Amino acid sequence: AGTPEKQVRMRANQIWQWVYFWGVRDFADMTNLSKDYRALLADSFVIALPEVISRHVSADGTRKYLVRIAGGHEVETVYIPEEDRGTLCVSSQVGCTLTCSFCHTGTQKLVRNLTAAEIVGQIMLARDDLGEWPEPGKGSGETGPRLLSNIVLMGMGEPLYNFEAVRDAMKIAMDGEGIALSRRRITLSTSGVVPEIARTAEEIGCMLAVSFHATTDEVRNKLVPINRRWNIAELLDALRAYPKLSNSERITFEYVILKGVNDIDDDARRLVNLIRGIPAKINLIPFNEWPGAPYERSDWARIEAFADIVHKAGYASPIRTPRGEDIMAACGQLKSATERARKSRAEIAAEAGLS
Ligand code: SAH
Ligand code: SF4
Repeated sequence: AGTPEKQVRMRANQIWQWVYFWGVRDFADMTNLSKDYRALLADSFVIALPEVISRHVSADGTRKYLVRIAGGHEVETVYIPEEDRGTLCVSSQVGCTLTCSFCHTGTQKLVRNLTAAEIVGQIMLARDDLGEWPEPGKGSGETGPRLLSNIVLMGMGEPLYNFEAVRDAMKIAMDGEGIALSRRRITLSTSGVVPEIARTAEEIGCMLAVSFHATTDEVRNKLVPINRRWNIAELLDALRAYPKLSNSERITFEYVILKGVNDIDDDARRLVNLIRGIPAKINLIPFNEWPGAPYERSDWARIEAFADIVHKAGYASPIRTPRGEDIMAACGQLKSATERARKSRAEIAAEAGLS
């Protein structure tokens, strides 16, 4: 009963719960809706996920899904099981407009932004594959520790250049009547789109990671060309404000260690000096190679010496173990084979603000 508006809202809530909480996609199974109404829905709508065209499982258990979205484009989604968690690495764009010189995705043109449905669809298809939807309509839906417990927006694309779709998808991921993951288990990684950082705190409120990678503007301009637009000082100002705005504990600084480029003791010392006062964890990432990459991974002794300096300065400095390397699923190795268009040198220069 109730007013028509109330009824509409109630039905929308019921369908929302069926789809995002219970993982049900067949209207006929939405048993708290009337039979007639279910038939009406089935006549007018379909609920579908992006199609998984291939699924590779690494020797270490990492799963890489190649996912086809409307228009025949492809993106990759990676599931990384660990002892205490399972992390899904989600893509936000096909390709990327940015051209970070160490990143495989950066060699691929931006084809288009993903829609919110395509972003949340990656989470749903991984839950399908892991078989972890609660049994429809039974119990509270709480089934103990989740196989897919964390989300990182670290796949293909720059999430802050697709803000609204990323925000709307993460709202569903965080909704208690949706996928119901805590905002503390969602981490958005940005290369440093400074004007969108405060908005990320206010409108999403998830954890933030930043692709820092260098300690001088000279080097960062080369590695992360968006630095020419917003330099290290401007980026740090935005990051300083983030924890308060989002009420989150600390920011993750990602630092890809490249042999002979950004890996000496002075870099480590500059890094800890720059971020002083910001609650932070520093995630050191051994460079993952890809065909034609212009960099090499630093030796382990060098990476450990770097980590030691950061650690002694009082920061957690985990070295990220490369996962799924044998199936090219590691950070920065993602690039869809169907998108043959490569950026020309001129385009790369233009995007980097060099022309
Ligand atoms: N566009 C966003 C998110 C995607 S990249 C960003 O740049 O933050 C996710 C992480 O993988 C970033 O920290 C990126 O710098 C890192 N990465 C990219 N290429 C890499 C490579 N070849 N080896 C190791 N890490 C890489
Ligand atoms: Fe784009 Fe991130 Fe790769 Fe840079 S590191 S090219 S921002 S996906």
